[in-house]
Amino acid sequence: MSDVVALLQQLVAIPSVSPMGNPPGRGEGEGEIARALVSRLRAAGFACEVSEGAPGRPNVVARLAGGDGPATIFEAHMDTVSAADMVRDPFAASLEHGRLFGRGACDDKAALAAMVVALEETARRGTPPGDIILAATADEEYSGSGVQHLIDQGLRADGAVVGEPTSLRLVVAHKGAVRLRITTHGLAAHSSEPDKGENAIYLMAPLIEALRGYAESLGSRQAHPLVGRPTCSIGTIHGGQAPNIVPSECSIVVDRRLLPDEQPEAAEAEVRAWLTQHCPGVAWEMSVMLYGIGMDTPVEAPIVGKCADALDRVLGGHEIAGVQYGTDASRLSRAGIPSVVLGPGDIAQAHTADEWVEVAQVEQAVAVYREIMWPS
Ligand SMILES: [Zn+2]
Repeated sequence: MSDVVALLQQLVAIPSVSPMGNPPGRGEGEGEIARALVSRLRAAGFACEVSEGAPGRPNVVARLAGGDGPATIFEAHMDTVSAADMVRDPFAASLEHGRLFGRGACDDKAALAAMVVALEETARRGTPPGDIILAATADEEYSGSGVQHLIDQGLRADGAVVGEPTSLRLVVAHKGAVRLRITTHGLAAHSSEPDKGENAIYLMAPLIEALRGYAESLGSRQAHPLVGRPTCSIGTIHGGQAPNIVPSECSIVVDRRLLPDEQPEAAEAEVRAWLTQHCPGVAWEMSVMLYGIGMDTPVEAPIVGKCADALDRVLGGHEIAGVQYGTDASRLSRAGIPSVVLGPGDIAQAHTADEWVEVAQVEQAVAVYREIMWPS
């Protein structure tokens, strides 16, 4: 078995489920996987910095000093989404027909393992042309606070490669997102006498219809060449306590995806204006749950050329792409570090009940990352 597959099995076997903004419970958070990474990297001779953006949510940074050339960050996240709904043991890391199964196998431990092995192999070769900084981050799946903590502490480089499942396509653009909670307030009453109350679910109904119209209207916007059009979707609805009580509150969460150059604040204002215009007389409240910015790295940026060259040499070609999902790359970009997203595995398998990654692609990723770190 190759070194990277053994490491990936080890990492998948360590639960590192995101507590989604809560303090980490058992099997949650990045503490254990960070310890495993640090002990491996220290054994390979790297000094590691461990810093917690929040209790139980460590980031790990390892550096390989290089020459005067551009410094490059290789970043991958250690957390995973919940393993509760998986159809097979999420931490068994079983291998079948060239696939490695388990929570995080694809998103994002495949990229993480490949970056670690590429870094170790590069270090064994000698001093690379520029500094290489490996950043294994916490909390990507919830808010991106891990990478933000490193940026706030001064993490900088001339370019960044963010490992996420792109099937080794070179991703230079992705959408941003705004998540909005919209709430209606009614008046509770016994359901046998509904006239004595005011039904918050009924109050929500016209807002839902209006938002459907808004989502449809986005379909006629100008499309970005790599990421397409902006979208809007209602993801959750909660309301009511019991069948025999007129609900006093109803809330929905709206997920508005932004073009790379759209500002989250502007999109929020647009949703507010739309509801005000289309639902006159309905009282509602809106709060922001998340602002996620997009990314649009120019293809002329040196990091893009460097990655394209590496892909050409290792795989015989490259594909420049945009994706719909958000990544830590947008935060690095906003911090002034031109970034790309490039990693093994298909996003179609991320977060699924049967998550897997193709082992051969993880091994290719090691070669691609190594080639970016130090062109042969
Ligand atoms: Zn991911």
